[in-house]
Amino acid sequence: MANILVIAEHDAGQLKLATLSALGFAAQTAATTHGVYDVLVIGAQMGTTAESLRAYGARQVLVADAAPLQSPLADRHAWVIEAVVKQRDYGIVVAAASTFTKDILPRAAALLDAGMLSDVVGVSRTDDDLVFKRVMYAGNVLATVTLAGDLKFLTIRAAAFAPVVAGTTLSPVEQIPLPAGPMPDLAEYGGREAKVAGRPDATEARVVVSGGRAIKNAEDFERLVGGLADALGGAVGSSRALVDSGITPNSLQIGQTGKIVAPDLYLAVGISGAIQHLAGIKDSKVIVAINKDADAPIFEIADYGLVADVYTAVPELTAQLKQ
Ligand SMILES: Cc1cc2nc3c(=O)[nH]c(=O)nc-3n(C[C@H](O)[C@H](O)[C@H](O)COP(=O)(O)OP(=O)(O)OC[C@H]3O[C@@H](n4cnc5c(N)ncnc54)[C@H](O)[C@@H]3O)c2cc1C
Repeated sequence: MANILVIAEHDAGQLKLATLSALGFAAQTAATTHGVYDVLVIGAQMGTTAESLRAYGARQVLVADAAPLQSPLADRHAWVIEAVVKQRDYGIVVAAASTFTKDILPRAAALLDAGMLSDVVGVSRTDDDLVFKRVMYAGNVLATVTLAGDLKFLTIRAAAFAPVVAGTTLSPVEQIPLPAGPMPDLAEYGGREAKVAGRPDATEARVVVSGGRAIKNAEDFERLVGGLADALGGAVGSSRALVDSGITPNSLQIGQTGKIVAPDLYLAVGISGAIQHLAGIKDSKVIVAINKDADAPIFEIADYGLVADVYTAVPELTAQLKQ
C-alpha cells in the first residue's frame, strides 16, 4: 500500500490544469497499490482553490493557507511539504512537472532524505515495488527505473496521464497549520512581471502555434504567429532562435530548455526541427509544419507539412480560418 500526496500547483489561486493529470496518476497508482491519495494546496487565501479540488476523489484536500506562503518561494513550500509528510503516512509525493514543482519537490525530497524522479511518463507494479518510466536526454531515452526507499518523490509529465474526472462526492478539506520552528527565509520574493497576453499558456492549450527563425522581428511574430494562434483560439510559442535574438520572451520558448507542451495541435511556423526543440513537442497529438525547405528535419516528425514561405502561407491560412 502506498498512500500518495499530490501537490497542487496554482497561479495566484488559479489551479493549473496539469494538477488534474497528477491527480490522474495518483488515482491510477492508488488503485493498483490499494492506497489512497490526498491533495495539498499551499498559498494564501486558498479557499476557492481548495474548493475546486474537492471533486477529484482525494481522501482529503489539505490546505496550508497563510500569508507568509503567498509568494511562490520554493524553500517555504518545501518546508510545508516536509512537515505534512512527516505527520502522515505517504509513500509517494507527486506533482505535475513544471518549472516551479521541479524547484520545490527536490528540496522537499532532500529534507526528507528521499529519492526523486522527474518527468515520469509511466508506472507499473511488480510484486513488491513500483517501476517507473521516465524520459531522459531530451526525450531520446526512455529509462525504466525503481526508487530505493519507502518514500518516493516524483514529477510526472502531464501529457502522459489522463486528467482525473470530477465526481459527485466531495472530499473533506483540512487546514494545515504552519509548521513549528523558524520559517525558511533565505530567499526573498522580489516581485513578478506577468505579461497580460490574453492567450492561454502553451503548456495548457489545446492548440499551440510556434514561430522560428523564419520570423524576422517582433511585429511579424505578433502578426503571423499571434494572428494564426488567435484564429485558432490557441497559445503562442517560439523556438530558442527567436528568444536568443530578442524577438520573443524567454517565457515562450518551447523545447528541452523551455516548456514541454502536448497540445492536440502543434503548428511549427518556420522552425527547422532541431532535436532540442522536438524534445518539447513530441507528445503533441498532431504536428503541422510550414517551412520553405522541403528537407527541413521538422517534416520527418510532422503529421502534415506545407512547403511554403511563412510570409505568404500564414496570412492566407489565417484569413481562411477567419472565414
Ligand atoms: C543545450 C541546448 C538546448 C537547447 N534548447 C532549445 C530549446 O529548448 N528550444 C529550442 O527551440 N531550441 C533549443 N536549442 C537550440 C536548437 O538547437 C536550435 O538552434 C533551434 O531550435 C533552432 O531554432 P529554429 O528552428 O527557429 O531556427 P533554424 O534552425 O535556423 O531554422 C529556421 C527554419 O526556418 C525556415 N525558414 C526560413 N525562412 C523561412 C520562410 N520565409 N518561410 C518558411 N520557412 C523559412 C528554414 O528553412 C529553417 O528550417 C538548444 C540548443 C542547445 C545546444
